[in-house]
Amino acid sequence: METTEKKTIKGGEFLIKETAYQDVFIPEEFDEEQQMIAQSTLPILYYGNEEQKAKYIPKLGSGEWKAAYCLTEPNSGSDANSGKTKAVLSADGKHYIINGQKMWITNGGFADIFIVFAKIDDDKNLTAFIVEKDFGGITMNPEEHKMGIKGSSTRQVFFNDCEVPVENMLSDRENGFKIAVNILNIGRIKLSAAAIGASKATLSTAINYSNERSQFGRSISKYGAIRFKIAEMASKLYAVDAANYRAGQNIDDTYDQLVAGGMESGKARLKSVEQFAVECAILKVWGSEALDYTVDEGVQIYGGMGFSADAPMDRAYRDARINRIFEGTNEINRLLTVDMMLKRAMKGELDLMGPATAVAAELMSIPDFGEEDTTLFAAEKKVLANLKKATLMVAGAAVQKLMMTLSKEQEILMNIADMAGYVYVLESALLRTEKLVSLRGEEASAGQLDLLRIYMVEAVDSVAKAGKEALWAFADGDEQRMMLVGLRRFTKVEPFNVKDARQRVAQQLIEANKYIF
Ligand SMILES: Cc1cc2nc3c(=O)[nH]c(=O)nc-3n(C[C@H](O)[C@H](O)[C@H](O)COP(=O)(O)OP(=O)(O)OC[C@H]3O[C@@H](n4cnc5c(N)ncnc54)[C@H](O)[C@@H]3O)c2cc1C
Repeated sequence: METTEKKTIKGGEFLIKETAYQDVFIPEEFDEEQQMIAQSTLPILYYGNEEQKAKYIPKLGSGEWKAAYCLTEPNSGSDANSGKTKAVLSADGKHYIINGQKMWITNGGFADIFIVFAKIDDDKNLTAFIVEKDFGGITMNPEEHKMGIKGSSTRQVFFNDCEVPVENMLSDRENGFKIAVNILNIGRIKLSAAAIGASKATLSTAINYSNERSQFGRSISKYGAIRFKIAEMASKLYAVDAANYRAGQNIDDTYDQLVAGGMESGKARLKSVEQFAVECAILKVWGSEALDYTVDEGVQIYGGMGFSADAPMDRAYRDARINRIFEGTNEINRLLTVDMMLKRAMKGELDLMGPATAVAAELMSIPDFGEEDTTLFAAEKKVLANLKKATLMVAGAAVQKLMMTLSKEQEILMNIADMAGYVYVLESALLRTEKLVSLRGEEASAGQLDLLRIYMVEAVDSVAKAGKEALWAFADGDEQRMMLVGLRRFTKVEPFNVKDARQRVAQQLIEANKYIF
């Protein structure tokens, strides 16, 4: 039994889907086009003055006007602040004359307004402008031929002596890069939620096919190799889903606190997202990679039909791939995760060295063989606490050992980002499952408990691998030996029959013929 009803919650429209298993809030499907309209509206909403907001927001909100976000240029992609597009004040001081070229602009073909990032004269940093298509001086190349998301318009946009009234500068001169970065933080958590929505739909389609397709006289959903894939996809997306909801709630709670403390709503919205920028970067990476895993295994479950352009997995596979590239590539987001953590540590907002030193001291002591706590979640909490120690040990030692050169050691930074990401996502899955058990009891949450434990095994193995590679790279001698012993201690997990857990999860999904967690 499933009913769907539209409701307005906190000013946003949601489809409330009631299933036999749970009530879930599904944000109304955000496709690429809508996501970019939001991305181009937010700079005005959060940084615009009252006149700008009054002029543009109602039209963008109603959908009468569509917008595009013009940051990337042919030679300025990941290095977004290096754009060459120029803005020069006209002789009468009434306009900025914009010249330059923007690339990969979503909605380019039909946008009514463009948020354009350009440098005024020889400024070091970008300035943002609201540019109406009717200002003139805007031309574009034909639509790009893309691997996927073919329903979305993507064009190169050229600005040739485009005259923009001075009052259309957004915020202050040279504040454009900050605007771009803050809007991207919001884009990252949204991308993750969209990727997990797509993963759920893809997994449901694959489960349905596995039930319908028979080989060797049995439905392929009866085979362990296929059931393994179904359970693996489910555990990844269950865990990232939990992290999305967690970060979303944390951002909302912080916003409410800031507003209660007297902060203006727009500022509070930005500040609250900024405080969770590390989480948004992790979510972008984990959401897009869970989706890519799901579409890849979806193709595999479809076999030859997975490779057919007439069957659904072809499009899912091609459409998914862009998510690891835009909103900051996954490499850039991994680097940012560690960079932001280290900056917070330097500012005293995050205590990295204290716990790292405590972990080092613990390694010198005899392990605690006290009574084993057998209560529900005690083992998972211990594993999580140990993974945090492993991450702090490696990150702390890398900071101490490499100091100023750490920012150039990208492979080590990637290792640390992987460790931190797994810790965050696993902790989110644990918190979600604990809450579910407290609401419905252990028996009704058996599937979620299995998903948590399957994901925990992946997290432990991945943290162990990343930590080992990092320690091999920057430590040596006795120090390396001691930390490797520590890493083994902190990534120890009691034997758990993960095969049976996957079988149980797959059975539930196959019976329901779709994703249900
Ligand atoms: C379909 C589509 C829609 C898009 N929509 C928009 C839009 O609406 N508006 C907009 O402004 N942009 C848009 N983009 C651009 C997108 O944000 C960029 O493609 C993305 O940021 C990467 O930039 P790049 O393509 O120049 O790759 P590059 O920056 O050249 O990166 C190439 C590779 O090098 C890696 N790399 C780069 N720098 C480093 C580094 N310092 N360390 C380690 N690795 C590094 C990258 O991770 C990547 O793997 C869109 C792109 C596509 C494909």
